[in-house]
Amino acid sequence: MKRSRKTGILTVVSGFSGSGKGTIMKQLLEKYPDTYALSISATTRTPRPGESHGKEYFFVSEEEFLAMIENHALLEYAQYVNHYYGTPEAYVRQQLDQGKDVILEIEIQGALKVREAHPDTLLLFVTPPNGEELKNRLTERGTETEEVIRSRLSRAWQEAQGVEAYDYLVINDNLDECVEQVHTIIQNEHARVAGNHELIEKIRAELKGFAKGE
Ligand code: 5GP
Repeated sequence: MKRSRKTGILTVVSGFSGSGKGTIMKQLLEKYPDTYALSISATTRTPRPGESHGKEYFFVSEEEFLAMIENHALLEYAQYVNHYYGTPEAYVRQQLDQGKDVILEIEIQGALKVREAHPDTLLLFVTPPNGEELKNRLTERGTETEEVIRSRLSRAWQEAQGVEAYDYLVINDNLDECVEQVHTIIQNEHARVAGNHELIEKIRAELKGFAKGE
């Protein structure tokens, strides 16, 4: 179906630390590489084993991060458990203009800032089926100290208070189903009347012509 919308859909995906949202995003991009672009954030936290600069994150110093804020290079930024995280704006703009559906995997403060700046942003929240499962996933990951896990669980509790600001809740108990659900939700956004003014105007003009007997 050809639509008039030329720019992509901007989607924010949030979820508790350990909700599995990273894995969902990875699979979504592997399955539909021509449809989606995943924004790479800048952060002041240190890389986990296996993470590399420019892939999972741009790992920067606090001075570098503050300079990005100063230069208005970030679409949004927030502090999360003692570190800064932010979305470089240029890449997001460029990918949207090329018609890619861009995904930001960010926490709730950032999500709300993005929606304020761009009201047509789609907000998805990913959760495991229950709290116990979240605690187990964080512990089993084995990449964080007990203290950090406790801070992340406390942050998860805080974030749970803000879920109503989101448009859709995605329950992550079956990975493949979750990936398809996220894909369907985002692709349905393309059908919104508000994003299809040009096509509607074109059909109106044609119908007007027919009504006049042209
Ligand atoms: P992690 O340290 O586990 O990679 O990420 C911690 C939290 O920061 C996650 O909820 C993640 O979604 C969020 N996050 C990652 N990048 C950004 C960003 O650019 N901006 C904001 N506001 N949050 C981010």
